[in-house]
Amino acid sequence: MGLIVQKYGGTSVGTIERIQRVADRVIQYKQAGHDMVVVVSAMGKSTDVLLEMAKEIAPQPSERELDMLLSTGEQVSIALLCMALQQKGYDAVSLTGWQAGITTEAVHGKARIKSIDNERILRELRAGRIVVVAGFQGISDEKEITTLGRGGSDTTAVALAASLNAEKCEIFTDVAGVFTADPRVVPTAQKLPRISYDEMLELANLGAGVLHPRSVEAAKKYKVKLVVRSSFTAEEGTYVEEGSTMETGRVVSGVAHDEDVAKITVVGMPVRVGTLSRLFNTLANNQVNVDIIIQSSYDAAESNISFTVSLTDLPRALSTLEQHREELAFRKVDHEVGLSKVSIVGAGMINNPGVAAEMFRQLAEQEISIKMVSTSDIKVSCVIPAEHTALAVRTLHTAFGLDDVEEKAVVHGL
Ligand code: ASP
Ligand code: MG
Repeated sequence: MGLIVQKYGGTSVGTIERIQRVADRVIQYKQAGHDMVVVVSAMGKSTDVLLEMAKEIAPQPSERELDMLLSTGEQVSIALLCMALQQKGYDAVSLTGWQAGITTEAVHGKARIKSIDNERILRELRAGRIVVVAGFQGISDEKEITTLGRGGSDTTAVALAASLNAEKCEIFTDVAGVFTADPRVVPTAQKLPRISYDEMLELANLGAGVLHPRSVEAAKKYKVKLVVRSSFTAEEGTYVEEGSTMETGRVVSGVAHDEDVAKITVVGMPVRVGTLSRLFNTLANNQVNVDIIIQSSYDAAESNISFTVSLTDLPRALSTLEQHREELAFRKVDHEVGLSKVSIVGAGMINNPGVAAEMFRQLAEQEISIKMVSTSDIKVSCVIPAEHTALAVRTLHTAFGLDDVEEKAVVHGL
């Protein structure tokens, strides 16, 4: 019996009773003969609570102290879970990120894992213990505590699974798996039995909150067998794996939406070599993350450039532009909120022309205006007015045959 890494999210360890249930599940695996490494998130919404306390003291608290604070959330849950396991008669040990040998970049708030020295974990496993590791945290070479970014416990779990060569990495959450759309918006959304790493990566980046995008990136890179499933039922979840939907007849695997979208238009930029580079470097240097970009030239001398940012980055983007107004030499800046980004994702679109055209036609039939478009090999995204989000997602879900995906999956031998 091999080693399994499991990760339990905040809701799954949200109360003492739920922690007991997690302990019972872990024990079942242990009894079946598996070596167990368990990663947990902070209990319930406790990371948000810590963040609110910090913001009450300082609107922009020191990033170092914030990591010091936020990393405590996971330490509460690892200790409690170990106590529960011990109380039930099992030998267990909790390890912080640094005790587990997780070294990250020296960046606060969104550090990437650089390496894992798993010697301590292996030693504990050899001694027969269940190892419980704090998610979302690590330590830099300078011995500073870092965190991996919100939702980062998934990434801790996948990185540990890769480093320990685990049989699989199971992500336990409050939904039954990866769905064809958000079930709260689309009642007919279906749980996907399988999805490819690439599709999952697009969906995660496009607002399907079920997995931290970097965890999917790591799983793909290190070929970690990833399973997303519910911690409240015994139901089978969704397998995320190599190219599993490529050869099927399914063109679209999921519809994602994201209401965290603002559009900025820089009007009257001089048409010169290096204009775009100056504009976007200035934004990047001020930590503004830009998504869709559209340049429209309306005469030889001037062009307008529109791009989207998250609502959180909007104030910083606007003030950055204002501060650099002179050197960037634009005429004015407009911005628009109340937007959403609706996307279709599917590896099957690579060899299927007309998928974007069909999406536009479906939206037009519902009289939904499209403000911006962006595409990749396996996705098409449209920015639309937010008030039409639910209608757009439902329309596309039906139009691309996702209302009965399980039936299809059988037909195509998934
Ligand atoms: N507790 C952290 C958060 O709320 C990390 C995680 O849950 O994955 O973002
Ligand atoms: Mg999460």
